[in-house]
Amino acid sequence: NKAIEIENVNKSYGDVRALEDVNLTIEQGEFFGLLGPNGAGKSTLIGVLGGLVNKDSGQVTVLGNDVVQNYRKTKKSLGIVPQEVVFDPYFNVRETLEIQSGYFGVKDNGERIDEVLDALGLKYKEDTNIRGLSGGMKRRLLIAKALVHDPDIIVLDEPTAGVDVELRKSLWDYVIKLNEQGKTIILTTHYLEEAEQLCDRIAILNKGRVVAVDQKEELIKRI
Ligand code: ADP
Ligand code: ADP
Repeated sequence: NKAIEIENVNKSYGDVRALEDVNLTIEQGEFFGLLGPNGAGKSTLIGVLGGLVNKDSGQVTVLGNDVVQNYRKTKKSLGIVPQEVVFDPYFNVRETLEIQSGYFGVKDNGERIDEVLDALGLKYKEDTNIRGLSGGMKRRLLIAKALVHDPDIIVLDEPTAGVDVELRKSLWDYVIKLNEQGKTIILTTHYLEEAEQLCDRIAILNKGRVVAVDQKEELIKRI
């Protein structure tokens, strides 16, 4: 099975065609970049992929399963790290991950949560309330939350927007490691440099259309 197959997907918001005849196939284990300026349709595409945005037409499958017909199953295969940081402010770091893990029906006696906390350098903050976290720590928690159910495919929507250089470097190192462990990574960005450093293959999205998709080296030659 392909990690992701997107076929003839269209999505409009009123007069705005956010996605126009989008076709993309992403292989398992790939580090795939979705590059495009603000408003290109990247977040909409991620929403469609996660079954959170209703497309007007087309088909999307995750590991061979249709995202609409087989929503529960495809959701478990995906770990989506959204762009905006939104948490329930009443909980601490560990509780936030416990709730998420319950939502996904993860059977865990705390070990998986420890693992994720360690991996993201959040262990020492586990008892800290969300309101007491810095922006960088919230960003880490957002990633931890998407990984708690150990998904095969990890989707990061502009993960380094507004993130300082040091954290960006450590997030990059971490996603590279996940990819080396066999996870499929999909990363949206409007920085060519970011896509170029990290991704094997890159699609360029502009005004809702895929205008190019190729191996990084080939694509860079043409820009
Ligand atoms: P990107 O993530 O590449 O910045 P988006 O997918 O957020 O692009 O947006 C694509 C287009 O769709 C933009 O023109 C945006 O203004 C519009 N759009 C996105 N979400 C909505 C929405 N909920 N309602 C109306 N227009 C939207
Ligand atoms: P429902 O399917 O009940 O509508 P939501 O979409 O509201 O659930 O999601 C519940 C919680 O799970 C939210 O915190 C949401 O951000 C998170 N979530 C849903 N799907 C994923 C995913 N694939 N990866 C990471 N977090 C997810």
